[in-house]
Amino acid sequence: MANTPYPQSYYAASANPVPPRPALQGEVETDICVIGAGYTGLSSALFLLENGFKVTVVEAAKVGFGASGRNGGQIVNSYSRDIDVIERTVGPREAQLLGAMAFEGGRIIRERVAKYNIQCDLKDGGVFAAITPKQMAHLESQKRLWERYGHTQLELMDQKRIREVVACDSYIGGMLDMSGGHIHPLNLALGEAAAVESLGGVIYEQTPAIRIERGANPVVHTPQGKIRAKYIIVAGNAYLGNLVPELASKSMPCGTQVITTEPLSDELARTLLPQDYCVEDCNYLLDYYRLTGDKRLIFGGGVVYGARDPANIEAIIRPKMLKAFPQLKDVKIDYAWTGNFLLTLSRLPQVGRIGDNIYYSQGCSGHGVTYTHLAGKVLAEALRGQAERFDAFAGLPHYPFPGGQLLRVPFSAMGAWYYSLRDRLGF
Ligand SMILES: Cc1cc2nc3c(=O)[nH]c(=O)nc-3n(C[C@H](O)[C@H](O)[C@H](O)COP(=O)(O)OP(=O)(O)OC[C@H]3O[C@@H](n4cnc5c(N)ncnc54)[C@H](O)[C@@H]3O)c2cc1C
Repeated sequence: MANTPYPQSYYAASANPVPPRPALQGEVETDICVIGAGYTGLSSALFLLENGFKVTVVEAAKVGFGASGRNGGQIVNSYSRDIDVIERTVGPREAQLLGAMAFEGGRIIRERVAKYNIQCDLKDGGVFAAITPKQMAHLESQKRLWERYGHTQLELMDQKRIREVVACDSYIGGMLDMSGGHIHPLNLALGEAAAVESLGGVIYEQTPAIRIERGANPVVHTPQGKIRAKYIIVAGNAYLGNLVPELASKSMPCGTQVITTEPLSDELARTLLPQDYCVEDCNYLLDYYRLTGDKRLIFGGGVVYGARDPANIEAIIRPKMLKAFPQLKDVKIDYAWTGNFLLTLSRLPQVGRIGDNIYYSQGCSGHGVTYTHLAGKVLAEALRGQAERFDAFAGLPHYPFPGGQLLRVPFSAMGAWYYSLRDRLGF
């Protein structure tokens, strides 16, 4: 049977040690079968276990194998599209519910870390950096918008102030969110998996769900076993493939790449990011970066539509890093890797139910570290019979990509090219 390891990354190299988990052999019965052990699956499992359900998780590779174990580690609040878009898309009551939830995922992460004593280098403070006056005006209106939903902890920064927190001359200002921050993403996932097991949940690794037998008593089939469940949660996101065709047709896996430097001297690290905040710029195809616990710079950016793996990641990302920080020209890159996130046409997540007993959440389109933690809670609430917040998400429209499976990649790349050209020209 295939044994899929983690991709070579800084995170895999610095992962906290965990015992191996077996693949499923034979037949088991459970209340809820969760497909996928990324943040969506683990957060769902944890909330369900805390509410007394029996939970079994199947993971095709290893815990945190997907985006959850490869991402930039930035705790970015809200959704990939903002609440004003949600206001225009759904009614005021749903917008109020979704707006009020926009910062909840970051709080869930902090609660998890504290409650289960997860060692994942958690740091507070995230910066949105504006390169153009238009982006700065957008941050100002975003702050007003978020405040309308009760999120009042944000600080606008002028050029002098942002220069105090990040040594990059490209920025004319920004916004600081102290409820943002950063983590070692794989160690967060591993800690959450250990928490799942501490509550009696079972996780099978190297166990892909290969078929779902739908019906009143659904069955998840795996290569050497099956799971009979009352409910199924589909949490495979960009790695799900065609297991659930209804979900594949309305989303598109996209790759994004990350590099990690060798450890920097304390002095250099302090010069770049004196308060150790994480930063993302406001471009459509954005750059994001932060320091690790051992003072390396992790830098990510760019998108490959359709999730092909680029041949030379360092050649793509290092020039972006040097544009922001020319002072790193002699610093060696120790790690480079790619991972897939799931894009939807609206860039809003897709949440819903297929039939009576198959639930899903996917497609947070880039910013997913906080949303996926919230999604787990919202899915668990729905299974517990409180579906108000689930219904608010499920009411967001799910659009098919123009061009279908065949043309969605070139169409989306053209759209992204147009928006990044607007960023470069500053309009
Ligand atoms: C390189 C990169 C950088 C990013 N940086 C950030 C960031 O800094 N901040 C931020 O907010 N967001 C970031 N994101 C997005 C964020 O990481 C994701 O939105 C989030 O982790 C998605 O979590 P998930 O659990 O839904 O999916 P995943 O973490 O991808 O987990 C899905 C899991 O399901 C498993 N699976 C799939 N199919 C099956 C099956 N049939 N049977 C069993 N298991 C299956 C996969 O193996 C995988 O482990 C980034 C994403 C990438 C790729």
